[in-house]
Amino acid sequence: MNHLFLHCRPGFEKECAAEITDIAGESGIYGYSKTKDGSAYVLFITHEPTAARQLIETIRFRQLIFIRQWFVSGPALTHLPVTDRVTPLLAAASDLPSVRELIIETVDTNEGKELSTLSKKFLAPFTKALQTKKLLDEKSPWRLHLVFISGTEAYLGVSPLNNSSAWSMGIPRLRLPKSAPSRATLKLEEAWHHFIPAAEWDQRLAHSMRAVDLGAAPGGWTWQLVQRGMFVDAVDNGPMDQALMDSGQVKHQRLDGFVYEPKKAVDWLVCDIVDKPARVTSLICKWASKGYCREAIFNLKLPMKQRYVEVKKCERRITDDLRALGLKLEIQFKQLYHDREEVTGHLRIY
Ligand code: SAM
Repeated sequence: MNHLFLHCRPGFEKECAAEITDIAGESGIYGYSKTKDGSAYVLFITHEPTAARQLIETIRFRQLIFIRQWFVSGPALTHLPVTDRVTPLLAAASDLPSVRELIIETVDTNEGKELSTLSKKFLAPFTKALQTKKLLDEKSPWRLHLVFISGTEAYLGVSPLNNSSAWSMGIPRLRLPKSAPSRATLKLEEAWHHFIPAAEWDQRLAHSMRAVDLGAAPGGWTWQLVQRGMFVDAVDNGPMDQALMDSGQVKHQRLDGFVYEPKKAVDWLVCDIVDKPARVTSLICKWASKGYCREAIFNLKLPMKQRYVEVKKCERRITDDLRALGLKLEIQFKQLYHDREEVTGHLRIY
């Protein structure tokens, strides 16, 4: 059990490895990463046999940026017989803590998708086998993960239910609403699911709140704000979706988002402008330092090579600048499933 299996966006394996090495090092835990470009997962193997479990129990999952989902396991189980995969997997599961639930995952690649039929078919017989062996326990704090890498190779391990993603592979299943003007709408919806506890939506995403959307056109993010009953200033030179404008809740401001300033402070700032991360970071610092908003969700586009380093630099800049002004804040970043070469940030000022 000295492996951490880490799901990530394909193409971001190096960021995922840099992040886990950095965070583990902060806890005095050392190991090495095994990565393969485009594989959509990373293995972090600790030198100490119990350290992977220590990491998954102590690092807060919510602070992770590029790691979508994780679990602690041993090495890959290979040469699984195609006629009876249950027997060796059940034997391996017997060496793990009992679990409350089982999820069968693949990795987020085309090869992974091809294995999803096998994964679905395997769920019922493997669950039954776990029940028979009394390895399922509704009071257990653990979840069992089984990831097929191929028809004959898999990783089996556990994650703490209260310190991992509630979604299989860390991917939320969100539906694109028919009337939303763009697919980008799902980014803001996912950001809310990730950053704001469901119990706080009614208070923090409340009816009649005021919001500003910088880089709003055609209006996918504004659409989400309007759905929550908010009034929105949509700042963009580009055209906004007409049906959204007909809601009467949106004012289109054909202005430069880096120059626009609100007449009165608003509850929410959201920003999806495609620009350099440092420039968007300065913009967010300006809004927070002038007291223009209480919460912000913004995207940082990351076309450069050192993407983990760049995000941490932006995070430090926001923290240092705003704390120096005596502001109390919470800042978090996540590469959401609906993000591409980018991460989403959330800032809350208290
Ligand atoms: N969030 C939008 C949605 O959900 O439909 C999509 C935004 S799109 C990724 C980026 C937008 O930023 C474009 O519409 C572009 O016109 C706008 N943009 C780029 N630079 C801008 C600036 N300086 N000020 C305002 N808008 C800008």
